[in-house]
Amino acid sequence: MTGRRLLYRVTWLLWAAWFATAAPARADDGLTLTLRRDFGYSNGSQIQGNFSLHVTGPADLASVTFLIDDQPIGASAQAPFTLSFVTDDYAPGWHTLRAGGRTAAGNTLTSATRRFEFVTGDQALSSVSQILFGMLGLLGGALVVVIGSQVLLARLGHKTTVPLGSPRRYGIMGGTVCPKCHRPFAIHWWGLNAGLRKYDRCDHCGKWSLVSRLSPQQLAAAEAEELKLAQPEPSATAAEQLKRQLDDSRYLDQ
Ligand SMILES: [Zn+2]
Repeated sequence: MTGRRLLYRVTWLLWAAWFATAAPARADDGLTLTLRRDFGYSNGSQIQGNFSLHVTGPADLASVTFLIDDQPIGASAQAPFTLSFVTDDYAPGWHTLRAGGRTAAGNTLTSATRRFEFVTGDQALSSVSQILFGMLGLLGGALVVVIGSQVLLARLGHKTTVPLGSPRRYGIMGGTVCPKCHRPFAIHWWGLNAGLRKYDRCDHCGKWSLVSRLSPQQLAAAEAEELKLAQPEPSATAAEQLKRQLDDSRYLDQ
């Protein structure tokens, strides 16, 4: 499979995922002719690729003949009355699709005539590409807005400070512990998804890190650790405290 052919296939699959619908049925003169896309492109009356014609009629419908531009392209003598065709087998441009049938009693029936423009693979590909690239452009734009607002938040230095060891609500996203300052914070909805983890910004130190959701027990432990930070240094003896006060007063004298 060449690269170009692969590109066709991938593009069709994407297209089919977005618009996985059959072309609608139409009023009939005894027979109802429906066009279905099996694999390819359809946009309004423009079609390209593998399609099938489906005919329904009275219960005693015995045989159906399928016609493109009034030329029979095949027949079916057994329900479901269906025939596949490939648009590339016909010249690009407008074509008429029609079906004729006969009942067991010998009555002749016809379907309404439907008109479609068979387009070339290149035409279809460029139409699909335009739409897909338009969608990608929208996605890209949305991404720029999200990232831009996060960068702006970081620039503004917006930090939410809470006292050390204070219990907090972590919300539906859960909480985590900052690897940089080791303080727990609530994971933000606007954090960037990175696989199972999130690239999120710490409320306390404002630094970005890869974090994952922690259990309530782990978070409670981190809060308790914060409390230890809040305690005065146990090594500071009375003598040291006095020395420190003297040092401070010296600076005041100058
Ligand atoms: Zn931090």
